[in-house]
Amino acid sequence: MLTESMEDYLEMIYRLIKKKGYVRAVDLAEGLNVQPSSVTRMIQKLNENGFVYYERYRNIGLTFLGEKYGKFLVWRDEQLKNFFQLLNAKTGIEEQVEGIEHYITPNTMILIRNLIIYFKQNTERLKEFKALEQELQYPDGEELEILRAWGFKREE
Ligand code: CA
Repeated sequence: MLTESMEDYLEMIYRLIKKKGYVRAVDLAEGLNVQPSSVTRMIQKLNENGFVYYERYRNIGLTFLGEKYGKFLVWRDEQLKNFFQLLNAKTGIEEQVEGIEHYITPNTMILIRNLIIYFKQNTERLKEFKALEQELQYPDGEELEILRAWGFKREE
């Protein structure tokens, strides 16, 4: 079982390893914008749960399990961002994805992936969909942004 924070760390570890070939605690603190002490604690937790191991020279490696989850987490993140871009979401795509991704199930992710494929293969449908944007307003032209009742925060 992965907590939201554990998922964010694993995702970042996977990204950095694919990009640079290695990852150190300082890279994570920087990438996730958290304190080095939080990174140490989280790496221990991920290690205890079998997702990461310690390499020489303070590098952090992904176990088979960590690799498997990391890959999925990055895929999930990218699919959701693609999806919102496809829908023409105007603002806050990153922020929305960072919140939603932790709660969506793998099966729903597949449905979203399929929808992306469908729209990409049927550009006429996509145009029709985008044309709705002008017509469909929230009732009474209410300013939706002010109705937002939640804020996004990362728990360390
Ligand atoms: Ca993410």
